[in-house]
Amino acid sequence: MTNDKIAFLGLGTMGAGMARRLMTAGFDVTVWNRSPEKAAPLAAAGARVADTPAAAAAGAAIVIAMLADDPASRRAWLGADGALAAMTPGAVAVESSTLTVDWVRTLGAEAAAAGVRLLDAPVSGSRQQAEEGSLRFLVGGDADALGQARAALEAMGSEIVHLGASGSGAVFKLINNFLCGVQVASLAEAVVMIERSGMDAARIVPLLIAGAPGSPITKLIAPRMLERDYDPRFFLPLMAKDLGYAEAAFAAQGLDLPSAAVARARFEAAADDHAGDDMAAVVEGVRRA
Ligand code: NAP
Repeated sequence: MTNDKIAFLGLGTMGAGMARRLMTAGFDVTVWNRSPEKAAPLAAAGARVADTPAAAAAGAAIVIAMLADDPASRRAWLGADGALAAMTPGAVAVESSTLTVDWVRTLGAEAAAAGVRLLDAPVSGSRQQAEEGSLRFLVGGDADALGQARAALEAMGSEIVHLGASGSGAVFKLINNFLCGVQVASLAEAVVMIERSGMDAARIVPLLIAGAPGSPITKLIAPRMLERDYDPRFFLPLMAKDLGYAEAAFAAQGLDLPSAAVARARFEAAADDHAGDDMAAVVEGVRRA
């Protein structure tokens, strides 16, 4: 088993770019996706395509998942044809999806029972960074396992941060997306405040974000809201999911997150009409309120 043999599960907005980076770096990549048609461009570029997560994972030194949510991750790792049971003991499982801390811990225990070490390695960065190989990996888990997976992560990312024990990457990622989600929801409200005030939003919103409220995320998303550019880099329902996961993680520790709940309601309100759009479309729910 060489570290060059990699299985990649999940070829959505992020996974497609990440798997392609691994191929460009010379890894021997087998891909799996629930909807098989998304594998066609990678197959054309030389990837092997597996029918099931188990078939992808058999013989791989490293199995990487980039999937929507807890149910998708559970299905890919532990489903009837799941990857974990097919993995070679000593191989490393890398979970890069944004998931609940509880599920990551459960998966870590299942992996250990199968002789596999799990790294929770969610990412910051979006579609463009996935395509460019400039993601930041936020890793929890065993340092030796990270050593085994490091070259693969470096093919997809420009920064690999080892945060600590298993689960710490998942916790960090939920805090990260909590802070992004509340800002994007508040930005949507500010944009509509400006529009309802009768001001020229194309002039006033850039002025607003040139000042103290201009964080990297508001600077990134404000132009999309103004131009109604909802080409998906991060599907809107994923942010509602992440806020809900953050609320659940910290409710378990006795910490309520009312700002997360309010922001989540904004994303959920927009999701009826904009489930296939970028999270910037949260502003449409406020516009119609
Ligand atoms: P996406 O485009 O929606 O892709 C989701 C992937 O999950 C697809 O491969 C999809 O398969 C699969 N999937 C969904 N439900 C499934 C199920 N029940 N069983 C099996 N597979 C299932 O999402 P993404 O933007 O690539 O994000 C992936 C993960 O990274 C998410 O956890 C997200 O929160 C996180 N993330 C996203 C970004 C971003 O900017 N986009 C940035 C950082 C982290 P199908 O093709 O069959 O639907």
